[in-house]
Amino acid sequence: MNENARRGYLRALGVDVWVRREGQGNRDSGLVTRDSSDSERVTRHASRVTNDSALIPESPNHESRITNPDPSRLDWPALEAAVKACTLCDLHRTRTQTVFGVGDRQAQWMVIGEAPGADEDAQGEPFVGRAGQLLNSMLKACGLKREQVFIANILKCRPPQNRDPAPNEAECCTPYLHRQIELVNPKLILCVGRIAAQNLLNTDTPIGKLRGRVQRLGTAQRPVVVTYHPAYLLRSPGEKRKAWDDLLLAMATGSVTRP
Ligand code: URA
Repeated sequence: MNENARRGYLRALGVDVWVRREGQGNRDSGLVTRDSSDSERVTRHASRVTNDSALIPESPNHESRITNPDPSRLDWPALEAAVKACTLCDLHRTRTQTVFGVGDRQAQWMVIGEAPGADEDAQGEPFVGRAGQLLNSMLKACGLKREQVFIANILKCRPPQNRDPAPNEAECCTPYLHRQIELVNPKLILCVGRIAAQNLLNTDTPIGKLRGRVQRLGTAQRPVVVTYHPAYLLRSPGEKRKAWDDLLLAMATGSVTRP
């Protein structure tokens, strides 16, 4: 990426670019910031393990099985319809609409967040609030437009009051996500936030230990780079420097090829 463009993207990300004085080399060291608050969260399905899943969720009851088909063999239209009609957990009672995911279905990068917030629940699209704006800037800093990636969440429905996803909610919803991953078949997954990372990777490891190295998902051993959630970065702008390191790792791991 051209250096000027990269600096422009970093500025868009809200990162002050520091440049070494002449004679000290010319590599940017990175970041500092502004911004403030925001919040968000995440969550599970019923049926089975896919290639990308280490989860073995409980089976749903008989009625659920009939009205909520096993996602693992569905094509895009059927998967989208299944999510829209899903009643596997109680979140279907409080949602305005499901938030399936958006973007290029043949993307080289997939971004996975936690769960829809109020804006996403209202608009039916992931990451459209303030955190979404920052996510867009983070992608731009990697030379990617939002439309060039596929963005989805662990949960397809908003948890009330943006609370953390309950374990059974994440279990019910995860098979939809794993099918999305199989269908997109991305080169790289950028997983944003502790809750998304712990659910996707089926681990309790703290985010500080998950980030900084490439994680592998499922039998396909797909590369996953974990970074902080943009909503957290809005609250803790001092962490943007680490997030930029994560993005550098993501770029080095999932270099995007142009047709
Ligand atoms: N936070 C998320 O994790 N996902 C969204 O879609 C919005 C905010």
